[in-house]
Amino acid sequence: MTKFIDLRSDTVTRPTKEMREVMFSAIVGDDVYGEDPTVNALEEKAAQLFGMEAGLFCPSGTMTNQIAIKVHTQPGDEVICDKLSHIYNYEGGGIAFNSGASIRLLDGQRGIFTAEQVIANINGDDIHFPQTALVEIENTVNKGGGCYYTTDQIAEINKVCKQYNLPLHMDGARLFNALVETNQTTKEIGSYFDTISICLSKGLGTPVGSVLVGTKAHIAKARRIRKVFGGAWRQAGYLAAAGIYALDNHVTRLKEDHQRARDLERTLNDLPYVTSILPVQTNIVIFTLPSSEITQKLLHYMKANEILASAFGKEQIRFVTHLDFDDEMLTKVSEVLHKATV
Ligand SMILES: *Cc1c(COP(=O)(O)O)cnc(C)c1O
Repeated sequence: MTKFIDLRSDTVTRPTKEMREVMFSAIVGDDVYGEDPTVNALEEKAAQLFGMEAGLFCPSGTMTNQIAIKVHTQPGDEVICDKLSHIYNYEGGGIAFNSGASIRLLDGQRGIFTAEQVIANINGDDIHFPQTALVEIENTVNKGGGCYYTTDQIAEINKVCKQYNLPLHMDGARLFNALVETNQTTKEIGSYFDTISICLSKGLGTPVGSVLVGTKAHIAKARRIRKVFGGAWRQAGYLAAAGIYALDNHVTRLKEDHQRARDLERTLNDLPYVTSILPVQTNIVIFTLPSSEITQKLLHYMKANEILASAFGKEQIRFVTHLDFDDEMLTKVSEVLHKATV
């Protein structure tokens, strides 16, 4: 598979030589006993980065999100999130399965909703209604084509949450993509949230892992829930070492991925068979084709030319740029797309 240019997701990256070296030489211990120094260092580093008290290293972003939802809710409560959100669309109904909570979907712009929309969907104090217990925002929005919240938008939602005494969780699977693009600082963004989930295995390029950060009390509760979910692991320091390396070395380079995504957008703009493209903000390019047949045809054509992409709905295709997608590959993708006769 290695000869393929893989634009399906930023999760497909392999650890770099330098990353493998730090993984290989990591000092490890049994993390269930709290004795893995590298896991402890990663959790502390991630927490400090966002001005939070504590962190919890987990195998996936789905797990960190699901743990956060469980931390903040009781069965029968309601979670406010956008209709495009990962926690609603792509976590297997986990909100109901794990937390017994219901969902209130907002209709945002490419997954970005406003403080007014939150206010309009908080349930009043009436025994008929589920109790609103949590607000969740996703940043960047995967299904929205990698778009991000401005600091003002986040500050306003935070204000509403404070006013109504609601915790605010961020699914920051691609938060660093937003930060490098907006020049927001990690501490500034951290100050608006009760808990944040960050993925190390997306743009940051590690093989496995996500970190949940928050207060000491929230993370202590999260640690118990992770155990129940079967996510308490042992010598995870080998993976944590990759995470520390990625936070130190793979954040600022995300801008290169964004540049290449904009280059792909420019290529698509020139193609007569592309109907529309969601304006690129970070590393995700979602474009629409005239029909599902043409979409399938283009995907097959690209695959025959050793390029992989994801179908996104019936008439859309998604490209995600990442650490293992370089300028040479970019040129090849552009050439292949120009030659397509769909
Ligand atoms: C990838 C992703 C996650 C977590 O996915 P895992 O595969 O479970 O690590 C969460 N939220 C968003 C928006 C994502 O894109």
